[in-house]
Amino acid sequence: MQTSNQNIFDNAESIKPEFKCDVLVIGGGPGGSTISAFLVQKGWKVALLEKAHHPRFHIGESLLPLNIPLLERLGVLEQVDKIGLVKLGAEFNHEGYMPAVYYFANAMDKSYPSAYEVRRSEFDNVLLRNSAAKGTDVREGVRVTEVKFRKGQTSLVAAVDEAGTPQLWETKFLIDASGRDTFLANRFKIKHRNPKHNSSAVFGHFAGAVRRPGKDQGNISVYWFDHGWYWMIPLRDGAMSVGAVCWPYYLQSRKKSVDEFFMDTLAMNPEVAERLKNARLMAPAMATGNFSYQAETMSGDGYLIVGDAFAFIDPVFSSGVFLAMNSGELGAQVVDEALRNGDVSARSLQKYDKTIRRGLKTFSWFIYRITTPALRKMFMSPRNTFHMEEAILSLLAADIFRGTPIRFPLFVFKMIYYISSIINLRESLASYRQRRRAWYSRLEFIWKTGT
Ligand SMILES: Cc1cc2nc3c(=O)[nH]c(=O)nc-3n(C[C@H](O)[C@H](O)[C@H](O)COP(=O)(O)OP(=O)(O)OC[C@H]3O[C@@H](n4cnc5c(N)ncnc54)[C@H](O)[C@@H]3O)c2cc1C
Repeated sequence: MQTSNQNIFDNAESIKPEFKCDVLVIGGGPGGSTISAFLVQKGWKVALLEKAHHPRFHIGESLLPLNIPLLERLGVLEQVDKIGLVKLGAEFNHEGYMPAVYYFANAMDKSYPSAYEVRRSEFDNVLLRNSAAKGTDVREGVRVTEVKFRKGQTSLVAAVDEAGTPQLWETKFLIDASGRDTFLANRFKIKHRNPKHNSSAVFGHFAGAVRRPGKDQGNISVYWFDHGWYWMIPLRDGAMSVGAVCWPYYLQSRKKSVDEFFMDTLAMNPEVAERLKNARLMAPAMATGNFSYQAETMSGDGYLIVGDAFAFIDPVFSSGVFLAMNSGELGAQVVDEALRNGDVSARSLQKYDKTIRRGLKTFSWFIYRITTPALRKMFMSPRNTFHMEEAILSLLAADIFRGTPIRFPLFVFKMIYYISSIINLRESLASYRQRRRAWYSRLEFIWKTGT
């Protein structure tokens, strides 16, 4: 597949690339740092180009228990333990219900009872330095601009550093880990917005927010409101990451400054407002209007796409970092095998595709329906009949790729959801209409703006 602007490669046959590697990785977030670290350990010559300089701000601070063994395999668990706050569970709150706290220790497989809350600037920096220490040629302040795939041959990659000096790379394999910049999906024009997921957000860090007491101090709190949901993620240094993920129509209704809009939004939920009564924003609030999306494909002849560069889903289950790192680890196995067999065709990468899609699908079923009355009721009043609560906990812990027997209990859970939706038909239809309105407003926005 060729990219749109090929000028730089017009005379590709006569070009002499300045730099050569076996694998070139675009982006040094969790996905890129993970796949590069594992591949370089397997003996490949790996280069990673990152347009920013770490440590850099990134939103998304809540990790999941299955991150722990992955961090262990990467050899960074001790470092993450030093920067992270231990998270024992996830707390869900909704009007009319007692808070439902899901402790990971009660999951089906009890081996991973905790996770961490981390500042992403620190966490991503640990991962990137670890990859560099293992031997990856990490270049920061270098932005990849173009790529040319040549059938049966190496690929050419153009990049530019901050001084504007161009670089030309030749690689046997390309990994796109560019996050929501979606480098390849944009160039191939294969990125599709996903109207079923929320993904506009407004967020900031607060000092002086009320934490949960004792062992619960590291738990994430999730609250729903009419336009979406809020998170409260406590960080080790006392700060609280707070955000509202909302339907785009709500964010578009903003007529005030982002800070004012953010504070007004938080005030809509009395419990959130109470926890922030004596708190102050530590820096201006930020907003992102990037909608959820998925690319058509995550692999092809000579390339693989990992993490957010392939898909971004509503972060209500804090799944993004784990999914990015997990795709990095699995991606490294598949790419290693393909390079060793001398066959980097799309066919040799199929295993990757299947597994990653299955993981996204598992989370997505719950995310699409989490705002329906039936699912919310089940979520807010957990029951362990047929091991359903344990299975939900395993899902919340991201234990969905290891063969832990959660399929049957999740199936029963889904059946109960469908039955109770039918029993409470009037309520279900009202909620369906509300969601449909939100989807339509979203589709209308996409149609009007083309973005
Ligand atoms: C509001 C919000 C809340 C979230 N909350 C959570 C949460 O609590 N827990 C969780 O797990 N996840 C959360 N996420 C999702 C999570 O942040 C992402 O899923 C995760 O960062 C994906 O990692 P990645 O490596 O794929 O991409 P990224 O972390 O985005 O890394 C991509 C990197 O590529 C670089 N790059 C991009 N283009 C180029 C280029 N052309 N050349 C060179 N470098 C390039 C970027 O600078 C960046 O460093 C949240 C996301 C949002 C928007």
